[in-house]
Amino acid sequence: MSSARIIDGKAVAADLRAELAKKVADLKSQHGIQPGLAVVLVGEDPASKVYVRNKGKQTVEVGMHSVEHKLDENTSEADLLALVQQLNNDPAINGILVQLPLPKHINSELILNTIDPDKDVDGFHPTNVGRLAIGERSLVPCTPTGSIILAKSVQPDLTGLDAVVIGRSNIVGKPVAQLLLRENCTVTIAHSRTRNIQSVVKRADLIIAAVGIPEFVRGDWIKPGAIVIDVGINRIEKPDGKTRLVGDVNFDEASIVAGSITPVPGGVGPMTIACLLKNTLEATLMQKGLPSA
Ligand code: NAP
Repeated sequence: MSSARIIDGKAVAADLRAELAKKVADLKSQHGIQPGLAVVLVGEDPASKVYVRNKGKQTVEVGMHSVEHKLDENTSEADLLALVQQLNNDPAINGILVQLPLPKHINSELILNTIDPDKDVDGFHPTNVGRLAIGERSLVPCTPTGSIILAKSVQPDLTGLDAVVIGRSNIVGKPVAQLLLRENCTVTIAHSRTRNIQSVVKRADLIIAAVGIPEFVRGDWIKPGAIVIDVGINRIEKPDGKTRLVGDVNFDEASIVAGSITPVPGGVGPMTIACLLKNTLEATLMQKGLPSA
């Protein structure tokens, strides 16, 4: 039986998109500016195709200009670099996203580092990583931003909380830890070499799990009343041979103990595209010398 408040990521994401649509409309009417997002897809990866389609659809729905570049699997690194440069120089494009994974013959790091940091809506460019670390205005990776928005949807002021992030990847663990510091949390980052991880997690008022191991965090690791944000997306096989998605937290156990918890699916996942659009608006404002909306 679940006693935790279930944090509805779909609803929070829908609210964020509605808020963005209003801000985009204001930007158009007051300054004649329409933010533009370009998404580049190389190859035929079915999951990536679905992501790109959803990104394009939601970009248009909030009133932004959407451009999709679908390139053949055999596109050369030089041709992809040339496209990124062209988008860097295109004034109608404020945000550039190159969908990962890229085919093996292309150096992903080289491509991502070629994106103009001011248009880097994924927030992966070293310049943006550095800006986040020193507390400058920057474009912040989308999933970490979404995780913080969800935590703040149940507790608007996170000041002073003991926060434990499980995972130290560049795309989730490290940036989410930086954002928690910015929110005045006391932050611990746990990882595969952490000793006695259960007792580390048990201290936390706020847990952000980004491990990539199905149902890794058990109910008895959680302090009663804690906020639990589950970033994990893992597909596991059920006894009947079908598959289902689970997070990095054992939801059935955790939801008895936690104060609030994100489900998988329907928690952090839906926030990612909404935060990409938030970044596209922020990138536009930064490029035009306007304050954050
Ligand atoms: P990753 O790059 O594989 O990083 C996993 C992290 O977990 C590493 O830092 C690793 O530690 C740590 N870890 C592994 N085993 C551990 C253990 N036994 N105990 C403690 N820590 C352990 O994964 P990621 O890209 O950050 O993604 C994490 C999860 O989030 C995945 O399930 C992924 O699918 C999901 N995800 C979801 C979204 C979304 O939109 N919702 C977006 C991105 C990722 P070491 O550094 O010591 O190896």
